[in-house]
Amino acid sequence: MEHIEKERVVFALWNMMECILENNNKKATCYCRSQKLYEECCYPFISGNLKPEIPEQLMRSRYSAFCIKNIEYLISTHHPSKRQLNEREILAQTIHETQWLGLKVLKTDKTQINQGIGYVEFAAFYKNSEIEQLHENSKFIYENGQWYYFDGVLLDPIKINRNELCWCGSLKKYKKCHGK
Ligand SMILES: [Zn+2]
Ligand SMILES: [Zn+2]
Repeated sequence: MEHIEKERVVFALWNMMECILENNNKKATCYCRSQKLYEECCYPFISGNLKPEIPEQLMRSRYSAFCIKNIEYLISTHHPSKRQLNEREILAQTIHETQWLGLKVLKTDKTQINQGIGYVEFAAFYKNSEIEQLHENSKFIYENGQWYYFDGVLLDPIKINRNELCWCGSLKKYKKCHGK
């Protein structure tokens, strides 16, 4: 086989594999632990097909974007006034150091939604040397036809009840899963 021909075949195979992988992911449950399919949950937002209509959708899709290391989505949904000059580098570093394990959306505050402000409180779990928790009340702002993550207040870790379902999406009780 000619060299060029071989390359073309490899490229076509590679493309096919990527398509299969992407379709498999779309048919899997979403990274944000909503128990919905990825293609019916965060994928439409991350792919740019749809804009989140409510802050919780943006919060969840940003968590999923962290899981799949989609830096572009994270930047484009961060309020422009809050982006740092080296945001891409910072994100690239944290994104590769952190393995996200699960998410619990705790509360949404829609009382100022008509003024384009919304809050979502969540706890996200990740692995360092041990399992750690990011408990945050995030502020979202609606501007120029889209919701943006504005900033967040860090809160003390939440306590997980041993009998509740684990935050990792396993559908097992916490005490039988990550709480062992
Ligand atoms: Zn999702
Ligand atoms: Zn678990």
